[in-house]
Amino acid sequence: MKNEHFNGKVILASAGPGDPELITVKTANYLNQADVVLTDRLVSSELLELYVNANAEIVHVGKQAGRNTSTSQLSINELMVHFALQNKLVVRLKGGDTSVFSNVLDELEALIENNIPYEIIPGVTAALGAAAFAGIPLTARNYSNAVRFLTFYKPETISEKAWKELAETDDTLVFYMSSEKLGELVSRFRQHGISKDKLLAVVEQATTPLQNVIITNLYEFEERCCNKTFLSPSLVIIGKVVALHERFKWFSNVRSAEHYFKPLRHITLDSSNSNHEQKLVRC
Ligand code: SAH
Repeated sequence: MKNEHFNGKVILASAGPGDPELITVKTANYLNQADVVLTDRLVSSELLELYVNANAEIVHVGKQAGRNTSTSQLSINELMVHFALQNKLVVRLKGGDTSVFSNVLDELEALIENNIPYEIIPGVTAALGAAAFAGIPLTARNYSNAVRFLTFYKPETISEKAWKELAETDDTLVFYMSSEKLGELVSRFRQHGISKDKLLAVVEQATTPLQNVIITNLYEFEERCCNKTFLSPSLVIIGKVVALHERFKWFSNVRSAEHYFKPLRHITLDSSNSNHEQKLVRC
């Protein structure tokens, strides 16, 4: 039970897609007051340096597929609760919007279970950042009446029936976490006869100085993107609106293999609590 002097709190906050100026004033203010910041991999060190107050402890709890530096969701939940119970103002900072394709549900459940007060602060999700910085209006009149946010990192997330409907719809489709499976995704759409006037855009490292946009017709995908590994993070947009990029692009492409979001560095093992398998701190 909380005692009357308890004033710990967790702010589930959103850092935006990359450009540090795409953060909200509200999140910037909380970073300025935070005691502890638990941050994801898709938050740049530049953004942390700009907005986090110098006395705050920054803990990197990012997840990165295939890397042993990932922090488990359980450890993240425990760290949030642990610091809040010490009466700290904890900002749990996620890339893009904190509620979009994130494990915010697990974190909310952990906070509720432990009676920790919280706030959820929205942000610019990657789809909106990438679309704006690539000059692709997602619901442009006469092109698309709606936009959908999807993911295809696990093939079973989309049923055969759903593929057919996705290939037929005129809604703009935005796929998160799907660039590694892009060949398979494209062939699914072709199997279901997606029309040739719908184009595909991959926006690599959207809104960062290293943003690069690749546009292709789905039927020419192999020729245009043959064996290409897209830089992480990458977002996929499919629809008629993608053609508008040619006319409205305003941000230059940077064809560089450099990563804007640096890989996690494993700094210390927190041996004080065996459940916190890894504690990653900024260096
Ligand atoms: N909460 C985040 C999404 C997390 S899932 C948000 O609202 O944006 C991670 C996926 O988001 C990545 O695999 C990629 O598809 C997308 N993403 C995040 N930031 C991106 C960026 N700057 N450029 C392109 N895609 C990005």
